[in-house]
Amino acid sequence: MNRKVYADNAATTPVDKRVVEAMLPYFTENWGNPSSLYSVGNKAKAALDDARARIAAIIGAEPNEIFFTSCGTESDNWAIKGTARANAAKGKHIVTSSYEHHAVMHTMRALKKEGFEITYVRPGNDGIVSPEAVREAIREDTVLVTVMMANNEIGTVNPIKEIAEVAHEMKIPFFTDAVQAVGHIPVDVKELGVDMLSFSGHKFNAPKGIGALYIKKGTRINVFLDGGGQERSRRGGTENLPYIIGMAKALEIAVDKFKDNQRVLAMRNRLAEGIKNIPYSHINGSLTQRLPGNINAAFEFVEGESLLLLLDAAGIYASTGSACSSTSLEPSHVLLSIGLPVEIAHGSLRFSLSHDNTEEDVDYILEVLPKIVERLRMMSPLYDAAERK
Ligand SMILES: *Cc1c(COP(=O)(O)O)cnc(C)c1O
Repeated sequence: MNRKVYADNAATTPVDKRVVEAMLPYFTENWGNPSSLYSVGNKAKAALDDARARIAAIIGAEPNEIFFTSCGTESDNWAIKGTARANAAKGKHIVTSSYEHHAVMHTMRALKKEGFEITYVRPGNDGIVSPEAVREAIREDTVLVTVMMANNEIGTVNPIKEIAEVAHEMKIPFFTDAVQAVGHIPVDVKELGVDMLSFSGHKFNAPKGIGALYIKKGTRINVFLDGGGQERSRRGGTENLPYIIGMAKALEIAVDKFKDNQRVLAMRNRLAEGIKNIPYSHINGSLTQRLPGNINAAFEFVEGESLLLLLDAAGIYASTGSACSSTSLEPSHVLLSIGLPVEIAHGSLRFSLSHDNTEEDVDYILEVLPKIVERLRMMSPLYDAAERK
């Protein structure tokens, strides 16, 4: 068995060869510092401006509303800590959801130590956060509302425009972690009406270690890194020009592939149908308001980790949740948030397909997965008891 199926694109993606090509000259010939005043620097500055403008255009922002960072985690930290601290004199309450990425969850934990109070709104069992639930959580002293656009484990996509409206009715800034959305589905900051939005290159075939934060003009937010005047003096540090160029190129390629999203969706749906045919299995989260490539399923009477290892041995790469928590045996906070019992959360698996996957990949997963599930269940006394009932 030599087939390799990479179905963990929500964790990271390979860098597109065209992206590498676009980046290479910025390591060698065009290596200048965009802040230098001589010609090599000017060339670098022009390339930086160009990349910023192209990225801004794709997400409907102005170029000076795009701030480059080192990753999605940094963007999330900046958006949340920056607005919370800038507005702390007005109040110290934040509304978020209970199934955010750890980059948000752990930032909240840090702010709690600074005296902020956090309300975690639970998504419904379908994995969607309702604008009404957000409205109920808002208080007089709320200074920030933040809800992710697409969930990294179950792929569900939230009604961000409506949630932003709720926050704005109360004159509260709204931030969305759109790291799973940008490069995968259309994202337009003006249409969504958000004040801040984060994204990260390595989730759409740019390198790891480059991200950005959209900050709407006029948003009150603290400086994130004090330093030279880079990023309009809000995020110091010499710009990572090759990676910024790479992210611009990758985003253009990703957006061009949206026309092929139906094919990814069809593969995902076929995978979902196949999984539903496995006894005692369930799909986690809404199948309609969801990223095209994501499927998350629970298999009763098996451990997700054991499934993962046997799939790995068969050349199939999936995930039990977020890569960041895969080293711990705690059940996923996302799956518990949507109401799954602990034991079912433990038996859950995420497949995240991309445009690089093929129908043969889906065939292969559907050939291998039921056998592995069955094999593991043979070792489960609970399964044995359930079958004999
Ligand atoms: C991957 C991810 C992040 C973190 O991005 P990094 O660039 O890896 O730091 C944040 N939020 C979500 C939803 C993600 O999927």
